[in-house]
Amino acid sequence: MNRWKELCIGFVPVLLIFLAFIGVNVMPLLFVGVLSVSLFFMIRSRGGVGVTAGGERKSKNRTPSYLTFDQIGGQDRAKRELTEALDFLIKHDQIQKLGIRPLKGILLTGPPGTGKTLMAKAAAHYTNSVYLAASGSEFVEMYVGVGASRVRDLFKEARTRAAKEGKDSAIIFIDEIDVIGGKRDGGQHREYDQTLNQLLTEMDGIHTGDGPRILIMAATNRKEMLDSALLRPGRFDRHIEVDLPDKKGRLSILDIHMKNKPLAAGVSLDKIAEQTFGFSGAQLESVLNEAAIYALREEKEAIEQQHLASAIDKVMMGERTDKETAQEEKERVAYHELGHAIVAEIVRPGSVSQVTVSPRGKALGYVRHNPPKDHYLYTKDYIEQQIMIALGGAAAEEIFYGGRSTGSRNDFEQALSMVRNMMDSGLTSLGIIDRDMVTKEELMRENSAILEALMLRTKQVLGQYRNVFDQSFDVLMKEEVLSGDTFRDLLGHTAEQSA
Ligand code: ATP
Repeated sequence: MNRWKELCIGFVPVLLIFLAFIGVNVMPLLFVGVLSVSLFFMIRSRGGVGVTAGGERKSKNRTPSYLTFDQIGGQDRAKRELTEALDFLIKHDQIQKLGIRPLKGILLTGPPGTGKTLMAKAAAHYTNSVYLAASGSEFVEMYVGVGASRVRDLFKEARTRAAKEGKDSAIIFIDEIDVIGGKRDGGQHREYDQTLNQLLTEMDGIHTGDGPRILIMAATNRKEMLDSALLRPGRFDRHIEVDLPDKKGRLSILDIHMKNKPLAAGVSLDKIAEQTFGFSGAQLESVLNEAAIYALREEKEAIEQQHLASAIDKVMMGERTDKETAQEEKERVAYHELGHAIVAEIVRPGSVSQVTVSPRGKALGYVRHNPPKDHYLYTKDYIEQQIMIALGGAAAEEIFYGGRSTGSRNDFEQALSMVRNMMDSGLTSLGIIDRDMVTKEELMRENSAILEALMLRTKQVLGQYRNVFDQSFDVLMKEEVLSGDTFRDLLGHTAEQSA
């Protein structure tokens, strides 16, 4: 854009002089030219044309929907930390009296869909501020300088909007800040560097004038990528983690999004919160939405528990596919999944929630587990049990078919990553190691020893439950789904028989 502008500025006068020189009357041309340029600037200043104005319009569209912190489920700690920080903006006079440096930037970090944008919107409502949003990728342009000028315009717009709406403060929310705020290398990404420099300059100038107070909130899920200049005191020096919700958080998010949906009697949201371990707020919202769609498809008046169960599967694994699997393949998948399920139920009773052999997403079948209680420390025994569950599928195939298939690839990836975790945590016979101190051969030997021993244990366990395989297999082939409770009944029944 800039290059074209410069070319025009150079070329037009030369052309006019040349035309005048060869005797052409340039006055009418000059008149039309001046008229169109002034018309262009007039429209532009009113916010009609051009890159900047387009950008402004975009961010205007996203402005205040009146969202409060009550409409954000879970995240109690993050909400508390944020409101404490926002009080700085509200109790401005008090803070000035004590000589406290005003807050300029708050960085929200955490996985996608956990409610960072919601937090920024609620913050604007809480502080009665103007709200402007932009995403890091909107500042990225091929031409050097455009990103920087967009940053300038964003701040300018914040000031003018606050003045127009009679507000004392403005909150600018920049999502994906890592796109422009990555570590500067002064090399290939000069455009990004200029944009970031402009952001830093604007932040430094925030509180120098009399205008509205501006607070920048930014979100990222890759905090470690950010340039240290952004994180230093006086810039984004408040970091608030917006993590995946725990069970209580999940329940409150479900409650919020359930408000406009009819729920059949007896449906337990508590159970859904338990089964959605590791889901973000956005995924939970999607579960309820999908459940409502299933209810609509079945022409039901209200959402039932089975709609919610299918919706969890859909969000976790993808939509059911129409892949027609051959009978032989389906049987192998059934044995494979039962292998996982039996080991899981033996090492952690009550943990299987459902076994399915209908293709969904990329999987041909799957076992849904009841997640363990939210916890963050794992013992060696626990990890070994998890590895055995992962190996259960391949072990079952070996028992019934005498060999494995490509269906175990993901399971092995999981198992290997767990072995790596054990090694790095000093839980193997190698002791406490630094990877650089150990040769690849040693690691390989230890890895194989662990996996072979666990595979043997897994096969021994499964060998004792051939009856369960037979009975569950029949149900699975007929119904395609086996609920955790039915499966446990079969397992208990067989145990009684063999006792
Ligand atoms: P990203 O990092 O991908 O931009 P984000 O963390 O900004 O994601 P949001 O845009 O705030 O996520 O959330 C997306 C949607 O997920 C929201 O519109 C809302 O429906 C739902 N959601 C996420 N977290 C929560 C929560 N804590 N409470 C209620 N709803 C939530």
